[in-house]
Amino acid sequence: MTFEELNLHENIMKAVRKKGFERPTAIQKRCIPEIRAGRDVVGQSLTGSGKTAAFGLPIIEKIQPGKGIQALILTPTRELANQVHETIGHFSSFTHVNVTSVYGGVSIGPQINALRRSDIVVATPGRMLDHIERNTINLKSVKFLVIDEADKMFEMGFIEDVEEIIRALPKERQTLLFSATIPSDVNHLIKRYLKNPIFIKEQLQVDSSLLKQVYYDVKQFEKFSLLVHLLKKKTPGLAIVFCGTRREVDFIAKNLRAQGIHVLPVHGGLSQNKRDNAVDSLKRENIQVLVATDVAARGLDISNISHIYNYDSPKTSTEYTHRIGRTARAGKSGEAVTILAERDHTNFRNVMSDRSLNIKREEVPQFERIQTIREEPRHGDRRPRKQFGNNNSYNSHGHSGGNFHKRRMYSLGGR
Ligand code: AMP
Repeated sequence: MTFEELNLHENIMKAVRKKGFERPTAIQKRCIPEIRAGRDVVGQSLTGSGKTAAFGLPIIEKIQPGKGIQALILTPTRELANQVHETIGHFSSFTHVNVTSVYGGVSIGPQINALRRSDIVVATPGRMLDHIERNTINLKSVKFLVIDEADKMFEMGFIEDVEEIIRALPKERQTLLFSATIPSDVNHLIKRYLKNPIFIKEQLQVDSSLLKQVYYDVKQFEKFSLLVHLLKKKTPGLAIVFCGTRREVDFIAKNLRAQGIHVLPVHGGLSQNKRDNAVDSLKRENIQVLVATDVAARGLDISNISHIYNYDSPKTSTEYTHRIGRTARAGKSGEAVTILAERDHTNFRNVMSDRSLNIKREEVPQFERIQTIREEPRHGDRRPRKQFGNNNSYNSHGHSGGNFHKRRMYSLGGR
């Protein structure tokens, strides 16, 4: 199917062509006609599936510029709000539709002015509620509500805010909800606020033939050295290194910088400016590596990412899939590398229990052992712990390795 066959308005098609899209993705093919027909939609899909255009194109088509805010799009993170704003802004560039994003961490004044002229608003829940409480937003013309990454809204504790926002909207509206998974609380939200929705399920568009997935099993104190080795010797493009905590993100970023790698951290504890700057720097290829927590990197769409490194193991296969979805996009190849130590084994066993994933163990190469400049935080701990003993000056030729593989064979009963 081509985009032409969807019969979108010519002004929207111009922007689609300008973007270079030829064919609608699977979720676009199925969502666009349903949304145009006025249906409420639940889209089960991950970022990378093209969901922004799936809801964005038919919404833009129905907006009457200058007639008040007609669409509200809620996203869990500021980065995603920015990205959705940029995408919707692009698709409406041949129309008079005005798009604004509102999120916390930046001053509210300019947002108040922009909201007076907006047709579409992309917002994070906290700042949105702020505007509602201050009476600086008029929602009476809203015809579309999009709840993006609903599962993440729950995980981040935003759901009460989301429900409060929904209650401030006109009841006569079309509601579209997107979520990678549909746990029971998301289901509850769907039952409560969507009218007879159609469910459209789509898989992540990572082409597994283009995505190599491997894990290394090492000792905890070898992890950082192996990461540096892989980044310097085996990573031709951009990389994202995922860490479990903000503290670990800062620790790894600082130490990678000390090794001469161009890197910036991104996590929820940094100012919005710093977060935006980090993501932009990676997009512009001013840095090679972004070190991130899951939340901060959620939904980021950056091309040319050749490698994803999991410096800790994700807890679930869904989390794993979210992380690896940042690479092997748009026909390019990529590699997802998980660096395990003993404390990751339980989580990684959980990831590996998803039989659809094809993650192979990789032999640990020879690598130089590097002394870190600060103590590494304990996993999930706020207090630092001393990482190295005294004998820290060898080259790790005879790598001792971890025992994930052996344990796994044992725990899965040789399956
Ligand atoms: P999204 O899931 O909305 O974050 O989109 C993921 C990526 O896919 C973005 O880089 C989009 O520009 C790209 N994309 C979306 N739809 C299409 C399409 N029909 N053809 C090619 N690329 C697309």
